[in-house]
Amino acid sequence: MLDRRAFLGAAAGLALGGCARREARTDVAIIGAGLAGLNAARLLRTTGAQVVVLEASRRIGGRVDTRTDAPGSPELGAADIGALYARILDVAGSLKVDLLPWPEEQGGYWYHVAGRPFTAEQWPGLDINPLVGELRGVAPAALLQRFMPRPNPLPDLAAWLRPEFAGYDRPLGRSLLEAGAPEAALPLMTIGHQAASLDAESALWRLRSGRIGALAVSAAMAAGEPVRRYVRGGMSRIPMAMAKSLQDAVWLGQRVVAISHGSGGVTIRCENDLRLHAGAAVLAVPLPALRPIAFDPPLPEPLAEAIRSIPYGEATSVVLHVTEPYWEADGLPPHFWTDLPLQRGFVNPSPTGDGHHLWIFSTGAADLGQRGGTDAEIGNYVLGELHRVRPSTVGRLTVAAVRNFTRDPLAGGTYAFRAPGQVGQFGNLFSRPAGRLHFAGEHTAELASGMEAAMESGERAALAIASSTSPRTG
Ligand SMILES: Cc1cc2nc3c(=O)[nH]c(=O)nc-3n(C[C@H](O)[C@H](O)[C@H](O)COP(=O)(O)OP(=O)(O)OC[C@H]3O[C@@H](n4cnc5c(N)ncnc54)[C@H](O)[C@@H]3O)c2cc1C
Repeated sequence: MLDRRAFLGAAAGLALGGCARREARTDVAIIGAGLAGLNAARLLRTTGAQVVVLEASRRIGGRVDTRTDAPGSPELGAADIGALYARILDVAGSLKVDLLPWPEEQGGYWYHVAGRPFTAEQWPGLDINPLVGELRGVAPAALLQRFMPRPNPLPDLAAWLRPEFAGYDRPLGRSLLEAGAPEAALPLMTIGHQAASLDAESALWRLRSGRIGALAVSAAMAAGEPVRRYVRGGMSRIPMAMAKSLQDAVWLGQRVVAISHGSGGVTIRCENDLRLHAGAAVLAVPLPALRPIAFDPPLPEPLAEAIRSIPYGEATSVVLHVTEPYWEADGLPPHFWTDLPLQRGFVNPSPTGDGHHLWIFSTGAADLGQRGGTDAEIGNYVLGELHRVRPSTVGRLTVAAVRNFTRDPLAGGTYAFRAPGQVGQFGNLFSRPAGRLHFAGEHTAELASGMEAAMESGERAALAIASSTSPRTG
């Protein structure tokens, strides 16, 4: 892996005589050193192709982000490896990265809604419970699922793309109301949602997520395998090991700003004026990070429209190091579910094996990062709120790290979802190349979600390039 200083030395050898502009040439240029780009690069290397991965930041991993310099190495991004993550499990095994089973769920949520703290058991009898009849007994965190179609009408992982399920490609909130959800329950159901309103998401997209989750649980149970795993030492170990295996092919500090493409090849220009010529390119960056890149010629419709309009979740991660288990001090459930701006909190094992982290995931309209504070201000605000509503946290938590995904121009949000109508409008159009440009990244996967989606997409792009008849070198 080359950082900028080392890269300048390497690129000098490729510079055109005496010209200040630095130029380089490769078979395949890959943009983005997240799991998608790294997986594409590793697979293409096995076919004998020369690859270069251009990464804008100084860090490998993108939305996998373990902060090894903070107490207990907190995870600000992806940490949870699902049972169906065959590619992640495979790469972890081959690169000798240790995985551990996620500890059994430790109790449910502790709630704080309408200014009142309570547990799921107390909820049915509370005067702030807006529901009637047997619905009063459904815990706030379980309400949304209660009104989703049961059983899930999608019979398999690819079904979301089939026209027979297009009827579900409509606003999620409205679908829940039609399924009998009382209007009064909608604000509760919106807690933890990554968009400002439930209607911003297609109900079909939610069914897709549900199908993936349910299949993972049943597959794990059938195989006697853990439903969830995590990486000893932190999730970033996987992308770091992948990048290391690519040796000098990953160039850090190379923010791509322009791409020209045609039958003769692809030329990629970075902010620092490096030009990389290639026979094909894999664009493995999230859509919000793709939007400012200038394409010559412009990308065709409806691709350009999909890049402009497919929405991303909004969220800030605040991770607190648990110096003493506050839930043992007060005997209440460890996880949080609130209508406060901090929204939800999950107690996770520390990747370094010494205790726990409390991961506050403030999402959607509540997203704390959107209020404009610095990371330190956001961290202190969250800590203050936790002290106020749950006194047992006083002296037992310290802020370990903060990351706002929405404001980060290299991410632009958490992950892609589909607005109502967009499954029908766009299908999975990113699975097809636009000439010599191939798309990868979690937002382009067909069957998987999360990190495994990124791996699936990198594999698909690499296979398409490897099997293409056009010359690789531009
Ligand atoms: C808070 C959070 C929690 C999550 N938890 C989980 C979880 O527990 N389990 C799970 O499976 N998934 C989880 N995910 C999702 C998972 O992180 C992503 O699906 C996956 O990491 C995406 O990988 P990617 O390669 O598609 O994109 P990214 O990881 O975003 O990689 C894209 C790369 O492109 C780079 N880049 C952007 N613009 C440019 C440019 N112009 N030039 C050059 N480089 C550029 C970025 O810096 C980045 O390194 C979570 C995501 C978030 C945000």
